[in-house]
Amino acid sequence: MTLSSPKPRPLIAGNWKMNGLAQALDQARAVAAGLDEKPAGARVAICPPATLLDRLSQALEGSAVLTGGQDCHVKTSGAHTGDIAAPMLVDAGAALVILGHSERRDDHGETSALVAAKVETALTAGLEPIICVGESLQQREAGSALAVVTGQVRESLPAVLAGQAFAVAYEPIWAIGTGRVATLPDIEEMHAAIRAELVVLFGDHGATVPILYGGSVKPDNAAEILRTAEVGGALVGGASLKASDFLAIIAAA
Ligand code: PEP
Repeated sequence: MTLSSPKPRPLIAGNWKMNGLAQALDQARAVAAGLDEKPAGARVAICPPATLLDRLSQALEGSAVLTGGQDCHVKTSGAHTGDIAAPMLVDAGAALVILGHSERRDDHGETSALVAAKVETALTAGLEPIICVGESLQQREAGSALAVVTGQVRESLPAVLAGQAFAVAYEPIWAIGTGRVATLPDIEEMHAAIRAELVVLFGDHGATVPILYGGSVKPDNAAEILRTAEVGGALVGGASLKASDFLAIIAAA
């Protein structure tokens, strides 16, 4: 992306997490069909579990829906049982990869330094990373949310991202899968702080990197969230599993 690049289209990415068997492909096909009928202003991606990625990419080929992974290993191959390498995601049709999701940070002890290393691996493989940051409820209640999140941005985003296509997703941990949503002023404040960090890190490029909001985005709250200053899209968990809900969120962007 060059310095004169216009503001990118919003990105609406669905994170299916550890959900979805073969029949879930029908939901993705329905999303593609819906966008065929009524093209979206936003870029759209679905990040299914690794077992479905290849089939999903094939099912969505030629559609407006991109596919992505939910994680990748820092190495590109080797003795890492159960892990998945960035070139494998590309081989299975992925264009993007979610990195540093709070569930990876919590369940697998992923640090921001590890996330930054994975980002480098993903970029080398040709993937567009969606890098997740977000504070816990305890950190928010202690008044340290801004410091925690801006620290995660500094530590999780390596310098090689300069000029590359990527997105940051702000996901307050206490809002993920809980039905609780950050208030619009809180979202605006955090996104402004992330934007300021991005500009410090990447100059003019940092001013256009999409900052997604994630955390209980649903059809009935998507429009107001997506209208909030510096919100450049959404990372959607639960509501991305049902085509009609996901399409309604996409239409709000
Ligand atoms: C997520 O997992 O990234 C997420 C935001 O989940 P949910 O939309 O279900 O809160």
